[in-house]
Amino acid sequence: LQKERSEFISLFHHIIDRFEMNVPEKITFIRELPNEKLFVYIDKDKLIQVIDNIISNAIKYSPEGGNIVCRVVKQRNQLLVSVSDEGMGIAYDKLEKIFERFYRVDKARTRKFGGTGLGLAISKELVEAHHGKIWAKSKEGKGTTILFTLPLMGKKRRYNV
Ligand code: ATP
Ligand code: MG
Repeated sequence: LQKERSEFISLFHHIIDRFEMNVPEKITFIRELPNEKLFVYIDKDKLIQVIDNIISNAIKYSPEGGNIVCRVVKQRNQLLVSVSDEGMGIAYDKLEKIFERFYRVDKARTRKFGGTGLGLAISKELVEAHHGKIWAKSKEGKGTTILFTLPLMGKKRRYNV
């Protein structure tokens, strides 16, 4: 990985901007991002890949007119990043499986929406390579939230990981 000190909030804004410009359906992005600069030590391209995967899924499973909430919460020494949609949701017993390679929740979903079932498995590997964790919360029929953490970089602390 090519890690460098990067400002996360502006990066996240840029990614959402790009989706907003390209998503034809009537989907509304809601941003709940702190109004400050928050630095992380990341491979930007890889982090973009993670967020692209998560937002693409949120769009894929959103109903028309759905809201997608993109949120960042600054915690003690990490960022909690989440993307919530108002889609069909995922059953409780499948919540961990979606991070496995080639796992897709059901065949009907597979037929209706393309995909290989690799997106979240790759996202998990990449988040873990950044010393973060990724998981999902969902209520069937209500929506899904994918969350991940990223260690915050201290203002002048040196990182060599
Ligand atoms: P790929 O990302 O490789 O194009 P994919 O989107 O099917 O294919 P993943 O992104 O790994 O694969 O997601 C795995 C499965 O988890 C999906 O097939 C889908 O069943 C379920 N899933 C993921 N995100 C959501 C979501 N936001 N709402 C409902 N189901 C989801
Ligand atoms: Mg996907």
